Amino acid sequence: MRTKLFCGWLVGHERSKHVLWRDAELVYENDRIVFAGKRFDGTVDHEIDARRQLVCPGFVDTHVHSGHRASHRLITDVGRPDYFGQPFLEISVAKSGARVGGDPRYARPDDDAAREDLELNATFTVAEMLRNGITTFVEFGSQRRVQEALHEQVGRLGIRAYLGPGFDSGRWVGGTDGKLVRVVNEEAGWLEFRGALEFIEETTGDHNDLVRGILVPREVETCSLDLMRAAAQEAAARKLPVAIHAAYNIHEFYDVVREYQKTSIELLESIGLLSDTTNIGHGNFVAENPMMNYSGGRDLKIMGEHRCSISHCPINIARRARFLDSWEGYREAGVNIALGTDTYPRDMIMNMRTASYFGKVASHNLRAASAAEVFNAATLGGAKSVGRGDLGRLETGAKADIVTINLARTDTLRFGPVRDPIKSLVECGIGDDVDNVIVDGIVRVSGGRIPGIDYGALRARAQEAGERIWGGWQHWDALGRTAQEMSPLSFELMG
Ligand SMILES: [Zn+2]
Repeated sequence: MRTKLFCGWLVGHERSKHVLWRDAELVYENDRIVFAGKRFDGTVDHEIDARRQLVCPGFVDTHVHSGHRASHRLITDVGRPDYFGQPFLEISVAKSGARVGGDPRYARPDDDAAREDLELNATFTVAEMLRNGITTFVEFGSQRRVQEALHEQVGRLGIRAYLGPGFDSGRWVGGTDGKLVRVVNEEAGWLEFRGALEFIEETTGDHNDLVRGILVPREVETCSLDLMRAAAQEAAARKLPVAIHAAYNIHEFYDVVREYQKTSIELLESIGLLSDTTNIGHGNFVAENPMMNYSGGRDLKIMGEHRCSISHCPINIARRARFLDSWEGYREAGVNIALGTDTYPRDMIMNMRTASYFGKVASHNLRAASAAEVFNAATLGGAKSVGRGDLGRLETGAKADIVTINLARTDTLRFGPVRDPIKSLVECGIGDDVDNVIVDGIVRVSGGRIPGIDYGALRARAQEAGERIWGGWQHWDALGRTAQEMSPLSFELMG
């Protein structure tokens, strides 16, 4: 079946670059683009009117942690100084032996009560991404049951996914007085690793090839060298992309330097884990970052030489008083910058804006992190990180992953006059401006709605789960604080 979109603006792709067309046409047949340009002469079976819209490639979210992120709502404006703003330490390091009620990411694998929460989290995650125009995502190392729940929603709601259970050689827990204690379990790590390979073998190509595999050694500092080496070998042998958190955490940076006399990036290079399909989670605390006070740093050069990607999550790190230092420096070194939403909101348009503004400030250059560059990062950069030349672009032969964005809404004045749709989108847009989302040639969001998903009901379920998590926080928090003690409401609650 052939479908034609009439486009007010169209982001096409020619000679390896996005190009802009005005009053143009985009045609796809089944799952592939067959035409992007001024006028298509052939016949079509179906037409979509996007004459008042910007038609562009779907966004690629390279850093997703599944769930509604209720626990993350506890760390806005607050945090433990000894954690240096590291979000996962704040909300993922439980009191030794404790589990978070209602948060299946931390449930024991044999806990059946978590099944409903797993389904809710996966549904919320996939629906939120689709609503915001994300057509491909990378899940960053949740346990196998989370991947299985996502796999199901990928089939039901239709999004492109890179899935694979994460693995590590042991986690952090909160010891006495909230001290960080490392629980090493090398054997469990190998078990998880073998399970990940098995899951990837079993699921790759599922749901009309929407599901692909990715190897995720979760964090450089929580994986043994042997485990990471094995991951590098399997990734090369099976041609799988890799995602790993590295150069992302003050504790991690200095722990790795002390343990190995190398930076995290140097360590990853030495064990063969850097390639043009390696996605380094955040990668913002590199040796060249003046904040690290490290002499003779060459992390950016190494990452550039291996054509690595970083999944830069500008909103999430800005909330923790961090930024990428600097956008321009990474680009000049040849690092592929891809974007991720990481936590909430899963809105790539807001993330593009944040990346652009912080990119200018940190680069001390108003030309840095332009609207074009952040748009490239949200589309081509993400596609490149997983080695896909057929995603993130609208050219003949590419996958029909298409988003239409309404720049002419009459219920808001936010956009004002639109001259350059990319600049307008980056500066004034939000995810809710996304009108239609097409993945693999199938309309998955129409007029902002996802068939089969009641946003109100889904939010009510997430709210209820959030109340449960916040209500029992003191049983889980390493310092035994209630949610209110840890994270007071902005103003005094008067009843
Ligand atoms: Zn992450």
